[in-house]
Amino acid sequence: MHLSRSLRAALAGTVAAAVLPLAASAHAAGGKETPSSGAANTTKRPKSLVIGIDGATFATFDKAKMPRVKGLMASGMTATSNLYAYPMAPTSSGPGWSSVATGAWPDKHKVVDNSFTGARHDLYPDYLTRLETADPALDTAVVGTWSPIRDTVFGPRVDTRLGGVSDADTTSTAVSLLKTTDADAVFVHLDEVDGAGHYYGTEHRAYREALGTADGQVGRMLDAIASRATHADENWQIVVTADHGHAPGGGHGGNTPGERQTFVIAKGSGFEPGSVRHDVKVTDIAPTALAHLGVAPDPSWQLDGKPVGALAPDAFDVLRPLLNSRVDELALPSALKGWTTAAPDGWTVDNSAMPAGGVTEWRGWSFATDEFWSNTDLGQARETNVRARDVFAVADSDEWDDKSHGAGQFDSTLSSPALAVTGGGTATVSYATHYKVDGPQTGDVHVSFDNGPRQLLRSYRTDHNAFEKLTVAVPAGATTARLHFHYTGTNSAFWTIDQVGLTS
Ligand SMILES: [Zn+2]
Repeated sequence: MHLSRSLRAALAGTVAAAVLPLAASAHAAGGKETPSSGAANTTKRPKSLVIGIDGATFATFDKAKMPRVKGLMASGMTATSNLYAYPMAPTSSGPGWSSVATGAWPDKHKVVDNSFTGARHDLYPDYLTRLETADPALDTAVVGTWSPIRDTVFGPRVDTRLGGVSDADTTSTAVSLLKTTDADAVFVHLDEVDGAGHYYGTEHRAYREALGTADGQVGRMLDAIASRATHADENWQIVVTADHGHAPGGGHGGNTPGERQTFVIAKGSGFEPGSVRHDVKVTDIAPTALAHLGVAPDPSWQLDGKPVGALAPDAFDVLRPLLNSRVDELALPSALKGWTTAAPDGWTVDNSAMPAGGVTEWRGWSFATDEFWSNTDLGQARETNVRARDVFAVADSDEWDDKSHGAGQFDSTLSSPALAVTGGGTATVSYATHYKVDGPQTGDVHVSFDNGPRQLLRSYRTDHNAFEKLTVAVPAGATTARLHFHYTGTNSAFWTIDQVGLTS
């Protein structure tokens, strides 16, 4: 259903679709996301409610009484993912809610603590402000228990910014607003689960009870929507999320799995009942709400998130069912499956220059999930690989070097399949990347046309974390291009690659 730029699509034989110009592709994807958002094909009015439950730890939902949230999961999509952590930003509320509200990660919106000092709301406004900018006639509202939500995270152009002295108060205000006004987009923040997390930890009965109370409050808001006289004529998109989790003993801000795991639960048109995804992140919430309300995110905004309907699996994501459990990474849970060195069809890894030995999981380019790779050793910036989705490619000379190996450095090349290009013009190469240096290390991207000589496209020698778009001239007469990612390092850090695309 998606117009894919992925190499998997190219492999599947849909080369024509894979090589459409980026702009056309983005436009098609945006249009795809909004089939029922006020366009001519429907009369139902799009409406959006996003509920944020501060400090809600998804891994504890199983043990809590949460019938309304679980009802949303059964009738919609559930996607867990991991947040950044230090050194990008701590797992705290300022960065967390700002990433939800803006659709960008902390290295862009610059909210790196709860003081909001240095925040770039001018470059990365919240999505309600973007709605007001696109169409001032839209009715937007935010209600939050934590005061920075209505004072800072959401800006002054939002029509209604209200607070609550408690979650009960916030819920009553939100319910009244949802029942009696014609608000198009509403964000509600509940705070007391976080308080229970700090005080009791997530293993305590009181934390589960706080989740149950928040669930009841979510239910009251859902009931308020269902009770609207105009409900049958409305197309509601409901999203529930969190800004961070908690460590089992309570507290957050750090790099542990409990603190970093978050979730997106979404119900509405386009979300299949009971669906589970691994590629959706909290920065997708803002663009998804915008697209639902008919505002296609502009590439010039440089958001990290995308409307969920515009996300497509990439070549590496097909490896998820084939991932292995640990071999040498004994600090990880034994049941966790999250790595393989077997490249997807059409891709190759050249390890002919790799010494023998070293940590098995990371000998040459590997393919891994965040929950596996980033938890091998905390606090070394693996947690900041925020632009990768689901399974990604990684070359990690640091982890590989943790076990004895033959003389020489890590030296491995990942090559793409031959991709169709049109000779004589230009091609755009795109990929998400996180290049982190902590010693002697090189990262080079080469391109070869029709299996000819490799020419350098991009070199990495300093830290770089971005979604890249590189333009390359295609020789006259060329019909295919291959991309080559060559990494060398001596107990340095790592290089990740994901969502590789080529349009020509
Ligand atoms: Zn907190």
